[in-house]
Amino acid sequence: MSMGFDACGFAAAVAVDDEAVARYDRWIDQGRNGCMQWAAGHRDLRRDPALLLEGARTVISLAMNYYPVTCQPPGALRVAYYAYGRDYHEVLREKMTRLAHFIEEITHCTTRPCVDSAPIRERYWAQRAGLGFIGRNNCLILPGKGSYYFLGEIVTTAQLPPDEPCTLSCGDCGKCVAACPTGALGDEGAADCRRCLSCLLIENHDEELPEWARDVMGDRVVGCDECQLACPHNAHAAATQIEDFALTEAVKNLSRDRIEAMTSGEFKRTFAHSAISRLRFKTLRRNAKI
Ligand code: SF4
Ligand code: SF4
Repeated sequence: MSMGFDACGFAAAVAVDDEAVARYDRWIDQGRNGCMQWAAGHRDLRRDPALLLEGARTVISLAMNYYPVTCQPPGALRVAYYAYGRDYHEVLREKMTRLAHFIEEITHCTTRPCVDSAPIRERYWAQRAGLGFIGRNNCLILPGKGSYYFLGEIVTTAQLPPDEPCTLSCGDCGKCVAACPTGALGDEGAADCRRCLSCLLIENHDEELPEWARDVMGDRVVGCDECQLACPHNAHAAATQIEDFALTEAVKNLSRDRIEAMTSGEFKRTFAHSAISRLRFKTLRRNAKI
């Protein structure tokens, strides 16, 4: 059975290690999650996958490439690659639900697929399951493949043989730190979301963005890829085979005029199956105006 995942690994569903918990708690306690308020909730569930599924024994970690075949033409308002095509939540959920059913059929165990739908430390589990390492740009880097990958997890009561965790690291490279236009990446090892354009453009719904952000955002309206574009691990990224992630016409030709002329109903229709629907209409308009 082929579903288009590019990597898969298993990790024993034990509690998250103390160091990783402390790192996360420090990030929240310092307020570095910024407008991502949801990240501060459910800390207990984030620490233990067995709280997400009773009797959990394994976390199956999955990755799917979204690096686009074709990019937006010059002049279009910039959208991060992850939002070029169909909403990855829909795509991954469909594929992972099929896979979860298959696992249940052959193991007679229970499963819980998670695609941003449960408080689970997805990069932590991907590293534990041997898929890759967490880079200074906060993305999971798959050795030899790069970081343009969506992640998903299936927590299951099936006992599956764990893979070796990935022990690679960024070494002394700091290209993403230097490339970040806002200084959101520091030595702490986790982005300061209060300064990250990706967070501000997508999750901050204030009427106005801070002046310093307006000064550097350029023509970006959805997300920011700078710290991934700068990463040497992405220098030879292969394009995705998943047609659902291909650049749509609506994103390809996104312009200030188009957004200004759009009604809220048109926004909903145009981006109904796009990750852009997760921005509010007023947030997209605010971003386009700047
Ligand atoms: S997404 Fe952009 S603003 Fe955020 S850390 Fe990366 S380069 Fe910096
Ligand atoms: S640019 Fe360098 S430091 Fe940043 S994530 Fe990639 S390898 Fe790590």
